[in-house]
Amino acid sequence: MKLIRIAIDGPASSGKSTVAKIIAKNLDYTYLDTGAMYRSATYLALKNGLGEKDVNAILDQLAEHPISFGRAEDGSQTVFVGDQDVTLAIRQNDVTNNVSWVSALPEIREELVNQQRRIAEGSAIIMDGRDIGTVVLPDAELKIFLIASVEERAERRFKENQEKGIESDFETLKEEIAARDYKDSHRKLSPLKAADDAITFDTTGVSIEGVVNFIQEKAEKMIDMN
Ligand code: C5P
Repeated sequence: MKLIRIAIDGPASSGKSTVAKIIAKNLDYTYLDTGAMYRSATYLALKNGLGEKDVNAILDQLAEHPISFGRAEDGSQTVFVGDQDVTLAIRQNDVTNNVSWVSALPEIREELVNQQRRIAEGSAIIMDGRDIGTVVLPDAELKIFLIASVEERAERRFKENQEKGIESDFETLKEEIAARDYKDSHRKLSPLKAADDAITFDTTGVSIEGVVNFIQEKAEKMIDMN
C-alpha cells in the first residue's frame, strides 16, 4: 500500500482540522495541526511580553519549551510547550488575535516549517494549515483547499467556542475571521493561497461527513493505486 501525504489548506474555520482529524483516524495516518504550532509560538510570545522586534527571544522560548503533541483520555489531541499543557490556552482570544503577526515573522516560519517537515518525513501524514501545499509539502500527493463563506465559518467558530466555554460575540467573530484571513492572505511570506495543483472545495452548506467523504475517496484511490 502506498503511503501518501495529504495537505489541507484554507482560511480560518473552514473545517480543515475537523475533517483532517477524522480522516487521519479512518486511514490510521498521523495528523499535524500546524496552526497549533503558530498558536503555541504566539502563546510563548504573549506570556513573555515579547513583540515583533523580539523574534530571537521568541525563538529562544521555542527552543527552551519545544512544541509537542499528546493525547487526552477521550482520544482528543493535546498540545504542549515544554511540559505545559496549552491545549486550551492557545484557543483563547488573545492568542487568536495575535497569531497573524507572529506567523508573519520569517524566522518563526522557517523554524516551524523545518519542524513540520521533520515530523512528516517518512510517514503517512495529513497536515492542515495555510501553506502546506505551497511551501511545507509542495510534493504532497493530495492537496485540498477548503473554503466557506465568512458567515458560515463564524457560525462554526461560535459553536466551537461555546462547546469549549470560550465567550464570543457572533458579529465580532465574523470581523475577526475576516481580518485574520486578510492578514494571512496578504503577508509577504507564504501567504494563504491554493497551490496550483490543489483541489478547491467550497464547504458552505456541506456537512462534515460530506467533506470527509470527498477527501477520503480521493485519498483512498491514490493509496490503492500501488
Ligand atoms: O489553523 P488556525 O486557525 O489554528 O491557525 C492559526 C493561525 O496560524 C493562522 O491564522 C495563521 O496566521 C497561522 N498559520 C500559518 N501557517 C500555517 C498554519 C497556521 O501561518 N501553516
